[in-house]
Parts: sequence; structure tokens; C-alpha cells
Amino acid sequence: MTNRVLVLNAGSSSLKYRLLDGVSGAAEASGSVERIGEDSSALTHSVGGQHHTEERRVADFEDALRSALGAFDRHGPAIDRESLAAVGHRVVHGGTLFAEPAVVDDRLLEAVEDLVPLAPLHNPANLEGMRVALRLFPDVPQVAVFDTAFHQTMPEHAYTYALPRSWRDEHRIRRYGFHGTSYAYVSRRAAALLGRAVEDTHLVVLHLGNGASAAAIRGGRSVDTSMGLTPLEGLVMGTRSGDVDPAVHGHLHRELGLSLDEIDRALYRESGLLGLSGVNDFRELTRRCAAGDAAATLAFDVYAYRVRKYVGAYYAALGELHAVVLTGGVGQHSPELRAAALGGLDRLGIALDPTRNESPSGEDRIVSPDGSEVAVLVVPTDEEWEIARQALAVVRR
Ligand code: ADP
Repeated sequence: MTNRVLVLNAGSSSLKYRLLDGVSGAAEASGSVERIGEDSSALTHSVGGQHHTEERRVADFEDALRSALGAFDRHGPAIDRESLAAVGHRVVHGGTLFAEPAVVDDRLLEAVEDLVPLAPLHNPANLEGMRVALRLFPDVPQVAVFDTAFHQTMPEHAYTYALPRSWRDEHRIRRYGFHGTSYAYVSRRAAALLGRAVEDTHLVVLHLGNGASAAAIRGGRSVDTSMGLTPLEGLVMGTRSGDVDPAVHGHLHRELGLSLDEIDRALYRESGLLGLSGVNDFRELTRRCAAGDAAATLAFDVYAYRVRKYVGAYYAALGELHAVVLTGGVGQHSPELRAAALGGLDRLGIALDPTRNESPSGEDRIVSPDGSEVAVLVVPTDEEWEIARQALAVVRR
């Protein structure tokens, strides 16, 4: 019986893939097709430590997946249809319909289509990825794994916005939360690192990548998370504002005559670290801070302070906390951010060991002192492995 899963992540203009063993997590190959539909697309296929790159026009998702399969044919490994246990798809928005991963069929495609108004930037690409893969792998079971699914356990008081009933009931306006695949993976690994059962582990997890969010996780179940109806709410991100006063839209419209689309775009693409400092890459931001750049320093401080506020809020939401867990490029690699966000919280039982915090490592690790009341962990996330694992679980049910 094969555990081989091809994981596909179709974004607005890119297709990322990884071929891996869903049980061990071992990857055989991975790659991406970027700038689909533009004049020149970039294809990368990595196998056995070799990176094969190519530049040419890739018209659409079908062309992209065919190009990826071409790269498998040329550079290996061979993936004939029988050797795959499943194709796993990352799907961003599952609304309230999907609290679990599900087999891709016509009904699922219709349901994901129906959710497009809630995720206009993501669900259309995810849908196209699934449709193309169904055409190219008609005999392989395909499974959709939803970013929102993990948060469907949130209690009503956490997911409800204080808004008029018709908006909530008829237009599905509520908090959904994202990064769920990452939270599922990281909370299991964190419990293992602590030597506790997941069901008995209470965590605040900080997923700090280009997108960033926090989650309060009680016994392996999400009880609150910082992203809401869309992935804009909550923490400061690379280019997204995170929390702002909702009156900002009306104000900017009246004062500057900006349209709603212009304001949305600015909040998504021109805000966050980029809006504050001119750069969205955290490494560059840290370099500029060290060089005394005032805008970069303010951006870092705003970012770290927002993380700190959410840690406090979610500690209170949980009541009892075993660990704060950091993941995502920034959470995993920035000791400066960890120190700024979590320093001076000894009264809450949260402390960092400076040497452990500053030692770089790609492994799951504890960066708090031995015997801390609340451990601080760094756990590199692996969303592709989690998608493959969940896809296998669905096809073996
Ligand atoms: P994505 O959300 O796209 O998966 P990642 O989780 O890879 O993104 O996170 C990307 C962010 O992590 C970028 O801002 C990047 O600068 C930051 N990052 C990566 N490596 C480091 C590092 N060594 N120090 C600080 N920040 C880092």
C-alpha cells in the first residue's frame, strides 16, 4: 500500500506542489510554477538536492500542472497514476460547511464555488486547481483540506461579531480563521515535545509568516483565532494591516474619495510592515532596525506589541496555558521578535532562555528555561505534510 501523496497549492497566479510520503513526511520532490498567465512564468522543480529551473509562458493552471508533470517525467521521480494514494488540495475557505477534510466531487466543487464571495482572492484559484487535477488524475482519489476547518470548533461567543442579525444570518458574516492546517500540525508536535496528550494541552500558537495569525488551542481544538471573516484581521503582517478601526473605510472614503476596492487593496497589499517601513521582508526589516532606521524600528515595535497583546488575550481566553508556540518564517527564525513579544512576562509564567532563544535550529525545540510554568516552543510548521496526512486519513476511512 502506497502512502505517496501529491499535494497541490493553487494560489492566485502560482501552483506549488510537493510529492511526499503522508506517513513519514519524507518529500521526494517539490516545485512551483510562478506568474501563471503572465508573459514569462518561472518553473522550479527540486529533486535529490538539485533545483531545475525554466522560464517560459504558462497560460493557465492546466498548463501549469502539465508543466509540473513534465518536470517529473524529465527529472524524476516517475509518478504514474497507480503509485499515488491521493492528491491533496489546499483550499482556503470552507465556511461552516467543512469542519473536516473531504473528498473532491461535484458537490464539494459546488460548495467551494458558493464560498467564493467569502474568499474572492483564494477560492477561485483553489477551485481551478481541483478541476484541473481531476482532469489529469481522474482515477486518483482527491481530497480538499481547508484552512478554516480547524477553527470550526470555536465557540459561538468567539466567532460572533456584534453586528446586525441579517448580516450574520444571511451573509455569513462571522469569524472563520485561517492557517488551520498549520495549527493542526504545530499543536500535535508541541504536545509531543511537551510529553503531553494533545487532549490535555493548552496552547497559544503564533503563526508568523508573510501572513500571520494567533490561535488559542484548548486540548487540540481551536477556541479563538485572530483572523476573522478574511485573512486581514488580527496581527500585523508583511503587507496586511491586521486590526484597524472598522471606521477607517468610511473615513478614507469621505476624506480622500477612495473607493472600497482601493481601500481594501491598500489594507491587503500596502499596509503592515511594508506600509510602516517600506519593506515587508522581516530579515531586511531586522537589518534596518540594527542600522538605526527609525521607520523599521517603529514597524518592528508595532508588530511585536500586537503579538504580545494577543498572547495576553488568549492566555485569558484559555485560563490555563502550557506553552506559547512560535512558527512561520518569523516565529521560527527571529530571536529578536520572540524576545520583544514575550520578554518581561515572568509574572505570567512566560520566560525565554536567552541562549536557547538565540541558538538557530531547524528542529522543534524549547526556548524557555527548564521548569518554566509556561514553556515557549519553536516548532517549524509543515502544511504540506499535514495536508498529505489528512488526505491519507480520508482515503483510508
Ligand atoms: P509564508 O507565510 O509565505 O509561508 P514564511 O512562513 O516562509 O512565509 O515566512 C516568511 C517571513 O519569514 C518573511 O518575512 C521572512 O523575512 C521571514 N524570515 C525568514 N527567515 C528569517 C530569518 N532568518 N530571520 C528573520 N525573519 C526571517
